Amino acid sequence: MPRPIHATIHTAALQHNLERVRQAVPDAKTWAVVKANAYGHGIERAFEGLRAADGFALLDLAEAERVRHLGWRGPILLLEGVFEPRDLELCSRLSLWHAVHCDEQIDMLAAHKTQVPHRVFLKLNSGMNRLGFTPQRYRSAWARLNALPQVDEISFMTHFSDADGPRGVAHQMAAFNAATQDLPGERSVCNSAATLRFASDAQVRGDWVRAGIVLYGSAPDFPAHNADHWQVQPTMTLATRIIGTQQLQAGDTVGYGSRFTAEGPLTIGVAACGYADGYPRHCDTGTPVLVNGVRTRLVGRVSMDMVTVDLSPVIAAGVDAGFGSEVTLWGSARNGAVLPIDEVAQAAGTVGYELMCALAPRVPVAVD
Ligand code: PLP
Repeated sequence: MPRPIHATIHTAALQHNLERVRQAVPDAKTWAVVKANAYGHGIERAFEGLRAADGFALLDLAEAERVRHLGWRGPILLLEGVFEPRDLELCSRLSLWHAVHCDEQIDMLAAHKTQVPHRVFLKLNSGMNRLGFTPQRYRSAWARLNALPQVDEISFMTHFSDADGPRGVAHQMAAFNAATQDLPGERSVCNSAATLRFASDAQVRGDWVRAGIVLYGSAPDFPAHNADHWQVQPTMTLATRIIGTQQLQAGDTVGYGSRFTAEGPLTIGVAACGYADGYPRHCDTGTPVLVNGVRTRLVGRVSMDMVTVDLSPVIAAGVDAGFGSEVTLWGSARNGAVLPIDEVAQAAGTVGYELMCALAPRVPVAVD
């Protein structure tokens, strides 16, 4: 028998979350961001729930090929554009839109011999200071692109650094509006947080939003707001079972480093999930977990293949907590209880994005 750990991808939740984005921006188109193997969900699995999107945004050509292979004929956007000249050939063949964020990418386009003109998103560095032309260089980059016969459509994009926080997007929007003023073409600036928080403003909304994490049921501005607030549902459940129990007495310790000490008699369960499954080792005593749908906490350190769980709230609730009991590390339990991935991520000092992306290859994944 395989270990009892497994992940489940919830197609209906993906559909629901996409619909939530559509409600937030009814007159904009949605790029469903499926980079990083659809935030760890698997592109093929996520596609089932996201096929009503207007386009798919991702990072590399292999991912784009996978989406085309699924029969998708609509727009696909390479968010970082091409990395070398030969990528342009595949862009043409797969009919991709691609970001252009530096002179070297314009040089590649200028040298590319093609019958199929390219559609590009010219990227502005409006303050994030990762990829993109500065406001000073943006319009000359546009003029260069606009003069190329290899390019027949230029759209405009930037990426926000603080859409989820108190700084917001106004300063970057001002830079974007100034840089793109009067230039003809579509605009795309919003990630998930901006889509939910600021897209009632038509200028911020633009023509396309690029929604990632919200499609996967995580609140982009957690802990200011949670998934319930934004009415999104978990799309990934990581679950396992209790494979052993221990009765502790006062003074007994648990796990490597003896980091948890029982203050009195305590029943703990050992669950088959560890950091080699992608569960964060930085989770420690107190991290929330569900046993047969009852909320309890981790005790002691996360090991490679196991975690240890306080069973007392489960027993107190009159719920079975014995061998084989269902343990939900994040997502939805069979009784309908939900443990938001954001809460587990917070306990590990990280974000839901990282947990989803880190799901280990050894964990079997099903779709429901
Ligand atoms: N747009 C770009 C350029 C990105 O890099 C990302 C992801 O980091 C997104 C949109 C989606 O962001 P989020 O998952 O926060 O919605």
